[in-house]
Amino acid sequence: MIVMKFGGSSVANAERIKHVANIIKSFEDKRPVVVLSAMGDTTDHLLEAAEAALEGTITLDAIEKLHKDTAGELGVPVTDIDSLLGELRTLLTGISMLREVTPRSKDFLVSFGERLSVRLMAAYLNSMNIRAAFRDAWDVGFVSDSSYTSADLLPATWENIRKELGPYRDGKKGDGLPIPVVTGFIAKDEKGFITTLGRGGSDLTATMLGAALRAEEVQTWKDVDGILTTDPRIVKEAKTVPIATYDEVAELAYFGSQVLHPRSMQPCLQTGTPVRVKNSYNIGAPGSLIVTRHEAKPPSVRAITSKKSVTLIDIVSTRMLGQHGFLAKVFESFASHSISVDVVATSEVSVSLTVDNEKAHFAGLRHDLEKYASIDIRKDKAIVTIICDVKRSSSILAATFAALEKEGINVQMISQGASKVNISMICDSAEAQQVVGVLHECYFGAGGIAAGENQ
Ligand code: ASP
Ligand code: MG
Repeated sequence: MIVMKFGGSSVANAERIKHVANIIKSFEDKRPVVVLSAMGDTTDHLLEAAEAALEGTITLDAIEKLHKDTAGELGVPVTDIDSLLGELRTLLTGISMLREVTPRSKDFLVSFGERLSVRLMAAYLNSMNIRAAFRDAWDVGFVSDSSYTSADLLPATWENIRKELGPYRDGKKGDGLPIPVVTGFIAKDEKGFITTLGRGGSDLTATMLGAALRAEEVQTWKDVDGILTTDPRIVKEAKTVPIATYDEVAELAYFGSQVLHPRSMQPCLQTGTPVRVKNSYNIGAPGSLIVTRHEAKPPSVRAITSKKSVTLIDIVSTRMLGQHGFLAKVFESFASHSISVDVVATSEVSVSLTVDNEKAHFAGLRHDLEKYASIDIRKDKAIVTIICDVKRSSSILAATFAALEKEGINVQMISQGASKVNISMICDSAEAQQVVGVLHECYFGAGGIAAGENQ
């Protein structure tokens, strides 16, 4: 069996739902379990509706219209949809009267998005004579802790899923068991309250189902040809990465390329279940396969990503020389100001590190650090990351710097990640696109290094 996950944009309107239903149909023989996100930007709209309700306004019209119109266009009954929308309106009325929304009621509120989309899809599949049944995640075993808005699944989920969906997995063609269409993103805690797994959490729902059921593969369907060698908006010649490891994908996700939520990789990593990223607009293309380890020797560089708007902080102190505990002190200061550090490089007397621009309040941090070091804070930097086989770093670095030198670009910091799959460089935000372009050409262009390695 397989798990097929479709994100919000894949089910954004009736036309897309029909398209996805046809994709599901083409995999009917594989005994698919389907996972869906809420339609389009419904989750955002629900959160906005909560904000409006706090101000005393109920704004549900657009959400209601989208789901009712879609049901109409799909030609499916609206009974289930109507009762959920009614419940949603009551909830918003409650929020507007209390002028209060707790994390728990927020999760209850956004859960309607996924609950609505699976009902529409299941009804439409049935109207196409494909037996399907919508399942709310808690009905197929998803239990989480009570960290509302970003809950963790409890270990019991593994066994629960096997109990609920094992018979479907083990069934035979023609046994009449309906295709489960499961809500992504949501679960219930042990007290029975609805929780969510954090934004983008539908990926985790899919990988959890796939791992628990030992699926042949988990497919996550997007609107690009899988994982790409770089952002196609920067380099339009970006190519599909045929095969990548979980570690590589985690780095990609972290450094700005939203393939899969890093946390969502965990269950499949545990069982070695392969995850395939497929393009719903190019069904025949193999997409990208994510695996535990490479069987064949892959090209030295897998992909290049960039993350803009980061701040580079240089901390220089001669007192660091031969001292122990200096770095501990530096990181303590960052921790006490809740500023999380991304990339780090150190020398005998200095340490350079990057943090996200938006989140950080630097005044307090500067005050602390200046007690024992001189500080230079530079904003508007970018991290360009080469996801690669770090064992081959000498030749990668040589090629990288030769290419950058030719263009007269100097990078301001460089760090080789401990996960053995990334080399990160810092440049100005304004230069990031150029750096990515130059490096992509160097590795993946015609006559580039990857082409040479393939021979
Ligand atoms: N609908 C949720 C969100 O927008 C979950 C998901 O799409 O994975 O974050
Ligand atoms: Mg979404």
